[in-house]
Amino acid sequence: MGLLSKGKPLSWEETKKNAWKVHKVGIQQFISLFHKLKDRKGDTLKWGDEVEYSLISIDDEKKVAKLSLLSSQILEVLQKPQLDDPLHHKAKWTPEYASYVVEGTPGASPYGGCYSDFNVVEANMKLRREMLYEALKGTSVFPLTLTAFPRMGCPGFTEPEFLPQPATSKSRSLFYPDEAVSSHPRFITLTRNVRERRGEKPAINMPIFKDKATPSPFVEVVPNDDGTASTYGKPDHIYLDCMGLGMGCACLQVTFQGCDLNETRHLYDQLSVMCPIMLALTAAAPILRGYLADVDCRWPIISGAVDDRTQEERGLKPLKDDKWVIPKSRYDSIDMYLANPEYNDKEVPINELAYQTLTENGVDELMARHVAHLFIRDPISLFAEKLEQDVENESDHFENIQSTNWQSMRFKPPPPNSPIGWRVEFRPMDLQITDFENAAFVVFIVLVTRAILSFKLNFLIPISKMEDNINRAIYRDAARQGLFYFRKNLFSEDEDDDEGKETPPTGATPTAPQSHEHEYTLMSIDTIINGKDEFPGVIPLVRMYVNSIDIDVDTRCTLMQYLRFISKRASGELPTAATWMRQFVLSHRDYKHDSVVSEIINYDLISKIRDISEGRSPCNELTGRLTSRADSLRPSLPRRISVRSDSKDGND
Ligand code: ADP
Ligand code: MG
Ligand code: MG
Ligand code: MG
Ligand code: MG
Repeated sequence: MGLLSKGKPLSWEETKKNAWKVHKVGIQQFISLFHKLKDRKGDTLKWGDEVEYSLISIDDEKKVAKLSLLSSQILEVLQKPQLDDPLHHKAKWTPEYASYVVEGTPGASPYGGCYSDFNVVEANMKLRREMLYEALKGTSVFPLTLTAFPRMGCPGFTEPEFLPQPATSKSRSLFYPDEAVSSHPRFITLTRNVRERRGEKPAINMPIFKDKATPSPFVEVVPNDDGTASTYGKPDHIYLDCMGLGMGCACLQVTFQGCDLNETRHLYDQLSVMCPIMLALTAAAPILRGYLADVDCRWPIISGAVDDRTQEERGLKPLKDDKWVIPKSRYDSIDMYLANPEYNDKEVPINELAYQTLTENGVDELMARHVAHLFIRDPISLFAEKLEQDVENESDHFENIQSTNWQSMRFKPPPPNSPIGWRVEFRPMDLQITDFENAAFVVFIVLVTRAILSFKLNFLIPISKMEDNINRAIYRDAARQGLFYFRKNLFSEDEDDDEGKETPPTGATPTAPQSHEHEYTLMSIDTIINGKDEFPGVIPLVRMYVNSIDIDVDTRCTLMQYLRFISKRASGELPTAATWMRQFVLSHRDYKHDSVVSEIINYDLISKIRDISEGRSPCNELTGRLTSRADSLRPSLPRRISVRSDSKDGND
């Protein structure tokens, strides 16, 4: 990252001119990695979380809460331990897209050596929070694990205050000043290039929550409108117009290492079905730019905010200068499974040249198709210093495309010359308010992978149904009211799939059309997670797994509390953060039933969230009096081994 931060970002024109090189060398880098590492065996489960912390500044006299643009200053303090002691630091800090967000991960080496690591997750999250408080000492700024700041994009939402400059800023946004973007040159370059590549500003329209005094139709007059809000904003929608209003949201991610390539591909497929379910269950973003929305999570906002497709690619004009009509944004759900082509029922555009090179060089067709699909995207940030790349010892051009395909799952090849194995990243979840909740979701996902492997579970549904589920997951109260396609028999193997796990099937997608309709049905999240009638439910299966392993009493207690919590969230007994925040606004004395979340409501909500996350006000409504033993624990350090992580940085 040091190298990158000193680099010179190329203009969009120059980036575009060099895209062929990134594509060509990036594919060669992948081929080299693939062959060096495809037969690598015997890696163990390792895993780790990523939490993005927002910095909040509060003025108790004026009763105003803002986002504080302090991230680069405090990163200097936060990163000192990791720079001083690369082998033993307890938490690792990286810059993020926004200059009010920092990302924290668990230190020098990932979890995974022993079951008691499950008990360290929450303690390490607490430790990171403590580090943040320490770094912010002497200021009125504090950290929150907030998915979307309710008044992000409202006039004066940052401290210090900056006005948006629609005529001259890199984003041209009417709402979001460039100063809210982190000073790391990668991020502002992405912002400009998304807009320039698209040929216009991103336009995100999210349905507004219609209350009894909300104007109907709701048509917003934006004071400094340069014509874009009136042109692109839709009635009854909240209009957003730049990368920052999406990428300035925060999320919770988990990365795992599989024992080998095949297991990793298998987990990628299986977990991708859980993405929409976990998105709905973790929903935490019901307020956008000071309005209550009819969506509950950040997903569709970021998806629109980085949508750099041209009009031709979006199918609005016949193809002339561009090569493909591309159905989805770079930030969206995955488009194909990596080990089960029989469930890939969608036509997916691929970079044919990349595909040909990959298959001619011994990459199996399914993997080649996956990579060639990622490579329909152009690089949107490129540094002059990084243009010439070594194929064998570097992977920056591959990572350039890979890391700007922000999909629900990410298949992560090992970096060159590193001890790291094949990994998958689970990326859909919104952030929770408390460490207890975030730890519960992280640990749950890890346990789900163990249950999948131990009981040979099969979650697969056609990829088009998984995609449909994502669209179902985003709406208001989807966790309680939504219905999602899910597999009826989780123990069923496909007839011809018994040995399929050893050698990934070849064959292009979609294969012979095969109906899987009898295999799935619509279910509520309660049924999916808790089970009903003959359908076992994911939590009972995970409990069975936990009961089958030899763990200490403390860790078992913690795991049972996490599972109890998620079970109650799924049954609707406990609300999502989105539902809870929405209710907070609806019952606030200043709320006028017009969908507006005013400064004072924002201040009270942020103060309440602060009290909860600092433990002053235990929030039984959110966590149902559940706590874990991890409360009293601190990470047992130094950890076992050190692992270098990828050379890229931020905004994932
Ligand atoms: P990115 O931003 O590319 O998703 P980060 O480096 O921010 O990745 O986070 C990676 C996560 O993966 C961290 O939680 C880290 O602890 C964890 N991790 C590191 N090494 C491994 C490994 N070998 N296997 C699995 N997870 C790992
Ligand atoms: Mg990252
Ligand atoms: Mg991140
Ligand atoms: Mg990540
Ligand atoms: Mg990260």
